[in-house]
Amino acid sequence: MKTGYLIDMDGVIYRENNLIPGAADFVQALLATGTPFLFLTNNSAPTPEDLAVRLKHLGIHGLSGRHFYTSALNTADFLSETDPACTVFVIGEGGILAALHERKIANDGIHPGYVVVGEGGTTSEKLTKAHECIERGARLLATNPDNWCPVSSEKTRPGAGSTAAFLEASSGRRAYYLGKPNGYMFHRARRKLADLALIQLENVVMIGDTMETDIRGAFESGLQSFLVMTGSTQLEHVGDYVYQPTRVLQSVADLTDEIRMGKPSDRLNSPALGDRSFNSERHGNRHQTDILSFHKPRPRPAMTK
Ligand SMILES: [Mg+2]
Repeated sequence: MKTGYLIDMDGVIYRENNLIPGAADFVQALLATGTPFLFLTNNSAPTPEDLAVRLKHLGIHGLSGRHFYTSALNTADFLSETDPACTVFVIGEGGILAALHERKIANDGIHPGYVVVGEGGTTSEKLTKAHECIERGARLLATNPDNWCPVSSEKTRPGAGSTAAFLEASSGRRAYYLGKPNGYMFHRARRKLADLALIQLENVVMIGDTMETDIRGAFESGLQSFLVMTGSTQLEHVGDYVYQPTRVLQSVADLTDEIRMGKPSDRLNSPALGDRSFNSERHGNRHQTDILSFHKPRPRPAMTK
């Protein structure tokens, strides 16, 4: 039975600029055994080649652009499948610009079919232009729902979700959020993984550190999911969610042996320890799509009538 892996990056392979212990061995085991895998990230700023270089500098060798599937690629796949002749006005960086260019989707600052919001590239001038395009009828599409993204243990930056929320407020239109946990991200990633493996995969497993995106999206797409304790989730919060991971692991290092041996460990759960949650003191929802994060209830709006 062939298993393929979709692997989140931040909080699974590295945190800040440090590799998670055992992550390099885990990736080498995947490569050495010919196990199909794809890194799956909501960050739409880098290109797949940028990410391969980033991991090389962190000490993971042997990767190329084909090992990555970003929310920028997912957005380009979405538009080329649903509206291939469309035009777009983009707020974002190299990853989304290159992905749209590759799919021959043209930029249009006058009368675009869509305003596409990605990570970064936000200026008041661009926001104003995007707002005007939406008023003229453009539909609003965000590469991912992340309101903020970690930069270091003490620093975050605004994400595509917060830029899209700005335009939702100014235009009165709702954005459509691609990227995890949207099922289209998992659907296209699974298809790409099967193409890469040259066979139909019987099992696809998502490995991630975030309940609202990695685990929720995998569950809703019918995939198995392994939650690791090296990122944003603390073990005591897992029970707050209505969807649950298939397995809880201390880190990806727990999988290295079973990938090398080719058969699942009989150990169902690793002793997951952890009080290392990133920014656990933050208030508010991390993603625009967080409607099921019960431990951080959304404040009830004031009555107006
Ligand atoms: Mg993560």
